Amino acid sequence: MEPPPQRHSMPAAPLLVTSLDGVVHLVLDSVIATCDTGRYPAACGATFIPAALTEPDGSTDCPLCRARPLTQR
Ligand SMILES: [Zn+2]
Repeated sequence: MEPPPQRHSMPAAPLLVTSLDGVVHLVLDSVIATCDTGRYPAACGATFIPAALTEPDGSTDCPLCRARPLTQR
């Protein structure tokens, strides 16, 4: 019995990031890894400064991020 074939490289892991205005955006892990300016482009195209990385304590989900396919860069 052979093991299942592995997916090539790692799948994009979206993170929930809360912006300063309390809106929870989706940000791809690959984006965060390459971003060193402190500002993160979300899946919806908005650029924001996160209030607390990986702490989704915002009260409002970004509808645009929710609607975006997670495979998009
Ligand atoms: Zn968003």
